[in-house]
Amino acid sequence: MSLIVHKYGGTSMGSVERIQNVARRVAKWHAAGHQVVVVPSAMSGETNRLLALAKEISRQPDVREQDMLAATGEQASSALLAMALLAQGVPARSYAGWQVPVTTDSAYTKARIKSIDDTRIRADLEVGRVVIVTGFQGIDDGGNITTLGRGGSDTSAVAVAASLKADECLIYTDVDGVYTTDPRVVPEARRMSVVSFEEMLEMASLGSKVLQIRSVEFAGKYHVPVRVLSSLTDPLVPLEEEMASGTLITFEEDQKMESAVVSGIAFSRDESKITLVAVPDKPGVAYSILGPVAAANIDIDMIVQNQSIRGTTDFSFTVNRNDLVRTQALLNGQILPAVGAREVVVDEKVCKVSIVGIGMRNHVGVASLMFRTLSEEGINIQMISTSEIKTSVVINDKYMELAVRALHKAFGLDQDKSQG
Ligand code: ADP
Ligand code: ASP
Ligand code: MG
Repeated sequence: MSLIVHKYGGTSMGSVERIQNVARRVAKWHAAGHQVVVVPSAMSGETNRLLALAKEISRQPDVREQDMLAATGEQASSALLAMALLAQGVPARSYAGWQVPVTTDSAYTKARIKSIDDTRIRADLEVGRVVIVTGFQGIDDGGNITTLGRGGSDTSAVAVAASLKADECLIYTDVDGVYTTDPRVVPEARRMSVVSFEEMLEMASLGSKVLQIRSVEFAGKYHVPVRVLSSLTDPLVPLEEEMASGTLITFEEDQKMESAVVSGIAFSRDESKITLVAVPDKPGVAYSILGPVAAANIDIDMIVQNQSIRGTTDFSFTVNRNDLVRTQALLNGQILPAVGAREVVVDEKVCKVSIVGIGMRNHVGVASLMFRTLSEEGINIQMISTSEIKTSVVINDKYMELAVRALHKAFGLDQDKSQG
């Protein structure tokens, strides 16, 4: 007998019929003698619908109330799944995050899980129930409902698996694994049967939304075996077949992985670039600009400071587009006068494209092939950032798909040899 956590995304929970299929799949695992905890997302479109309602009421909705609202999507889908299981004769019980409780910090809309009390879950598992725990949400120390950021159900699932020391965490989604890039953008993308934890961490942090970054961080910290697989197959497919499908995130780097210099292309459309023009170039200036931004819980991504000319410099950085309005308000209201820069220029429509691969460690010339490929397509690079296993560029977002396709081809990912 194993303890398995299943996570089902929005598309997988998208209709009554799909929920019934999820219940059939879960029932199959339960009937085989496994203890199963299921973490569902809201039905597809539901979180967007709720957030759009909030925006109709207020351009900048109160974040506490926004979380109170958005968390209802997962509560509904969890209850529906419990009913579907009960209707199929499987004992099941659903819990909202606060009932478990899943405790988080108080950073509404992007809260972090602090702890999970597994007492109730374990008690139900002991008596043979399937336990359903809402994804995406928790409760802070003040008793307020919080949410974990878009795509946060992945993190809920891996965190529940970590806390229960589950044998596996299976992330069921609408693609059958992790691909060399988003298969919806590059149809030639290839599924990888294994991906290293480090590469998955980079891919997720650089925008591959197949897994939320924090879920991969949890998997790494607690060594949770995670597999990404399809929920859209026949729910009654034999267990062994199901366990051999999809993409396993592995903590071991084997020979085959080292041979691929670049194993994936990630991208993120949701970026904006902000430039402070003519900033007096003196010690402490970067801190005076970025300190207040970070203090407002806004994630800063790429940063570029130019050569100083006659004592002033231009200072650029990128933030998530969702945070642009808040960042601009901070800059214009507080930071610009404090540092004495001339003006703030915003380029709302940029994106980030990245190549990722642990093989990059041992190879030179990888970044230059990236730059050459982009130049051959006439794409201007606005910012560059590198680490041991990735190179990222910021470009105009109208070239994003072109860049991803060209790079996918240039690094030989279209071909069979890239398959793990
Ligand atoms: P879920 O609702 O199940 O959480 P998501 O929409 O959040 O599903 O994530 C799955 C989607 O991630 C896929 O439909 C695919 O378009 C996208 N995606 C982006 N990059 C990749 C990748 N490298 N491999 C697989 N899917 C990817
Ligand atoms: N329902 C949430 C969202 O749409 C969380 C998730 O699906 O993982 O972002
Ligand atoms: Mg998701």
